[in-house]
Amino acid sequence: MVFLASGNAHKVAELQALAERDGLALEIRSAKVLGGMPAVAEDTGTFAGNARKKAIALRVIAPPGSFVLADDSGVCVDFLDGGPGVESAYFAGPQGDAAANLRKLVEVMRGVPAGRRGARFYCLLLLIDGAGEERVFEGECAGTLLDEPRGGAGFGYDPLFVPEGFTASYAELGEEVKGRLSHRARAWAALAAWWRDAKRAPCDRAPGSG
Ligand code: IMP
Repeated sequence: MVFLASGNAHKVAELQALAERDGLALEIRSAKVLGGMPAVAEDTGTFAGNARKKAIALRVIAPPGSFVLADDSGVCVDFLDGGPGVESAYFAGPQGDAAANLRKLVEVMRGVPAGRRGARFYCLLLLIDGAGEERVFEGECAGTLLDEPRGGAGFGYDPLFVPEGFTASYAELGEEVKGRLSHRARAWAALAAWWRDAKRAPCDRAPGSG
């Protein structure tokens, strides 16, 4: 069992769906079952630093020996020199209002021509095992930003982001497509590959792979 260090129900649902789809013997539980995600100031300025703070905060209240997973993610916009990036959750202010964040991104990108609307989503998953050992898995997905939000699925900036190779937004494409190519799905794929390898019997492993 892995406890997820997030108060974001959408992240929990996406990661649970990925774990189920892949048939991994890895059950993801929301921090809710431990009484809720402890308040953490996401102030380190890096995805890895913030993920680590969240994971460690949850580990304090998780049953001894359990695994803890944190997701820190965001949208990095070329026109904003990579912003809001690690500050994506607080782009429009410290209250972390997702609708206000989306509106602000629409406004700051207003009038920016199509050729300069490149962006990428980035996700860092940090897993702490029962012994306290940490592992990091990353994923990203490149695309462009629409002029106006489109679609009703997903969360956060999904209605504004069109992944490369598509014309519809994440929020129009929905869970199945997002689950194949999103930043979170790609970070998850790296974690799942490691998990499968780690769980294989030692004599099945390739020589030198530990
Ligand atoms: P944090 O990881 O808690 O700092 O928050 C990440 C923020 O980035 C979220 O609040 C969203 O605004 C944005 N974000 C991260 N992943 C996604 C996604 O899959 N879709 C849309 N927005 C996302």
